[in-house]
Amino acid sequence: MAPPARRESKASAGSVAASAPEQALAKLGLVRDIDLALHLPLRYEDETRVVPIDSLHDGETGQVEGVVTDSRIQFRPRRQLVVKIADDSGDLVMRFLHFYPSQQKTLAVGRRVRARGEARGGFFGLEMIHPAFKVVTPETPLPTALTPVYPSTVQLSQAVLRKAVAAGRARADLDEHLPEGIVPAGLPTLRQALDHLHEPAPGLEAAALEDRSDPAWQRLKFEELLAQQLSQLLAQRERERQRAPSLAAVRGQLRDRLLATLPFKLTRAQQRVAAEIDADLARPVPMHRLLQGDVGSGKTVVAALAAARAIDAGWQCALMAPTEILAEQHLKKLVGWLAPLGVTVAWLTGSRKGKKRDEMLAQVASGEAGLVVGTHAVIEEQVRFARLGLAIIDEQHRFGVAQRLALRAKPPAQDGPAPSPTLPLTGEGGKPASAAGSKLEAHLLMMSATPIPRTLAMTLFADLDVSTIDELPPGRTPVVTKLFADTRRDEVIARIRDEAGRGRQTYWVCPLVDESAALDLKNATATHAELCEALPGRMIGLLHGRMPAAEKAAAMSLFAGGQIAVLVATTVIEVGVDVANASLMVVEHAERFGLSQLHQLRGRVGRGTTASVCVLLYSAPLSDTAKARLKAMLETDDGFEISRRDLAIRGPGEFLGARQSGAALLRFADPVLDEALVVEARRAAERLLGDDPGAAGRHIDRWLGGRAHYLNA
Ligand code: ADP
Ligand code: MG
Repeated sequence: MAPPARRESKASAGSVAASAPEQALAKLGLVRDIDLALHLPLRYEDETRVVPIDSLHDGETGQVEGVVTDSRIQFRPRRQLVVKIADDSGDLVMRFLHFYPSQQKTLAVGRRVRARGEARGGFFGLEMIHPAFKVVTPETPLPTALTPVYPSTVQLSQAVLRKAVAAGRARADLDEHLPEGIVPAGLPTLRQALDHLHEPAPGLEAAALEDRSDPAWQRLKFEELLAQQLSQLLAQRERERQRAPSLAAVRGQLRDRLLATLPFKLTRAQQRVAAEIDADLARPVPMHRLLQGDVGSGKTVVAALAAARAIDAGWQCALMAPTEILAEQHLKKLVGWLAPLGVTVAWLTGSRKGKKRDEMLAQVASGEAGLVVGTHAVIEEQVRFARLGLAIIDEQHRFGVAQRLALRAKPPAQDGPAPSPTLPLTGEGGKPASAAGSKLEAHLLMMSATPIPRTLAMTLFADLDVSTIDELPPGRTPVVTKLFADTRRDEVIARIRDEAGRGRQTYWVCPLVDESAALDLKNATATHAELCEALPGRMIGLLHGRMPAAEKAAAMSLFAGGQIAVLVATTVIEVGVDVANASLMVVEHAERFGLSQLHQLRGRVGRGTTASVCVLLYSAPLSDTAKARLKAMLETDDGFEISRRDLAIRGPGEFLGARQSGAALLRFADPVLDEALVVEARRAAERLLGDDPGAAGRHIDRWLGGRAHYLNA
C-alpha cells in the first residue's frame, strides 16, 4: 500500500506537523488512500471574499487584506508577536502568542497579508488573535469556493491535512462497485459525493454543505451503514457455521434442582428469557445473546440457570464481572446456590496470586471446576479451560470489545473436548457436530442493565439476539428520588440517623472521575470523617477503588452483614451490588454522574420490601445537560426510559462509549436520526450478499479495512 501523503507532507516542511505527519495522520485513522478520501470536512470557511478592515465589527469573523506597517515582538504583558496591517479603510493588529522566529520574518514591514479570524475591539483598536494568514501579492487570486476544515489534531495543521486528503483522494479507487439497484434512487455516486464535499463548487453556501440531509451526505451515510450491516451479516453467517456444544441433554437435573432450592419463584419474564436461552444452548451453534433487564430485575439467577445447564451437560461455565466486588458477590451467591448441588466453583481475580491461584488454575484446566467466577483475570493468557461451554459476561457494557472477544475465544486446555462418553456431540440430524479438527466455540451470554434502545440495537448489534426482562420481582416498593442542594446536607445526615435508628443502612456515593485522582479520594475520606463525627456510635465504612482487595471485601461484607450503618463509597459500588437492607442512597455531586450511572446507583436500594429513598445532592450551578439528567431521574425510574433519555442527551457515540462497540466507527450516520437509511442499508446488505458477494467484500474492505471484526463483538 502506498505510504500516505509522504511527498505532500515533506513539501510543507516548516509547518507544525512536518515532524511526523504520517504518525499524526495514522492517529486519525488515516492510513490508506481511501481513508483520506473518506475523511470529510467538519465545516467550511469562506475565504472567497475580502472585506475592508473598518467594516469588521467586534466578534465578527472575516477576511481582510492589508500591508504590514509595523511588526515587533512585545514583552508585556507576555511575549508576543504584534503585527499591524493597514488597508485603505483602516488598520488592524494581529497578535501571536505562540510563533516561530520565521513567522516574524514572513510578516516583515511592507509585506501584503491576507488574514482571517475573529475581530476584537481591543484597547488599541481592532485586533485578531492568531488569525489564519498568508502572504500574498495584489495578483494572488481569491479562492472561488469554500475552504474545507477537516477534523484534526494539534499535531496536524489544516494545510498539511488538506494536501494529504487531496492526494489520497486522487490516488484512491473510488469507482462504483455496487451493482445497480443497491443504492437508493436519487443519490450521487461515491465520487460525485466526495467531490461535492471536499471541493465545493463555487458559490455554494456553507450551510448547504454542512447540512447532512444533502444527497452527497446521504450517499456517504448509506455507504457506511451498508458496510456495517454487511459485516454484521457476515459475522452472523460465520457464527451459524461455527459449532458449539449442544447443551440440551440433562443428566443430573441440575437446573431443575437449582430451581427447586431457590427461595423465590421466577417471574414470568425470567421464565421467558430463561427459555430463550435454553433453546439457544440446545443448538450446536454458538449462542450470541444479550440479556437485558433493569437494575434489580433478577438477571443473576437466569445466568445461574444457564450455568447449571452447561455444567450438567458436562461443560464448564465462566462468569466474568467488571469489578472485584461484584465478582465476589456473584461468587457468594453462586456458591450458595450451586455448591450444595455438588458443583465446584473456582475464583479468579487480579488480587489472588501465588499458590491459591495456581490451585485454581489447575482446577480450571482439569475441568474439576464446573464454574469459574472472576474479573478480567478470567481472560488472562494463563487461564486454560478443560472445556468451556458457556461464557457469561455481566454488566457487559463495562468491558471493551476486545475483552469480550477474548473470553469467547478462550482455547481449551486440551484439543478435542470430551465432556462425557454418554453425551456424544451431535448436531442436528444426528450428524457429528464437530467435524474432525474443527473447534467448538463457547456459547456467549452477555448481561446488561443499560438497555439499548431498539434503533441502536438494530444498527450496532444487528447480529445479537436480545432477551429482555421487562418485569421486576414482586413486592418491591418503588424508590422515591429526591433532589437536594448541597447546602442541605444536614437534613440528609439527620435522615441517615433516622434510618440507622430503624436498623436500616445507607450508601453515600462520592464521585470519582479518575481512579487515581487524589482530590476525589479526599472527597470520600472527608465525607467519611464528617459522617463519623455526625453519627457517633455507628460504624461508618469507607470503600474506594484504591483500597487493597482484602479491605474492600471486608468493608463490603461488614455492610452486607448489617454491621456498617453507612458505607461511604466511590463508584466502585455502581454496578450490581446487592444488599437488601440498604434503604437510603445518597449521591454526592450527583451533577457529575452520567444518567445511566445514577440509575444504576439508585438501583442499589429498593431491593427489599422496605420503602427506599435516593437523595441526589447537587451543587449549583448546573449545566444544561446536568439539569436534563437530574430531571430525568426525578421523572422516571424505568430503565428503558432512562436509557432513551440518556441517548438523547449524549448522542449514540458517547452513550455507548468509545470502547464499547462499533458505534465509534460510525462517523457519518447517526443510528437514531438516520433510522430510515439504516433500514435501507439492512435490506441492501442482504440483497448484495446474495447477489454479489464479491462486491460486498470490496465494499467492506473499502470502508472498514482491517477493523471489520470490531463491529461484531
Ligand atoms: P440484576 O438484574 O440487577 O443483576 P439481581 O440478579 O442482582 O438483579 O437480583 C436482584 C435481587 O432480586 C437479588 O437479591 C435476587 O436474589 C432477587 N430476585 C431475583 N429474582 C427474583 C424473583 N423472581 N423473586 C424475588 N426475588 C428475586
Ligand atoms: Mg446484576
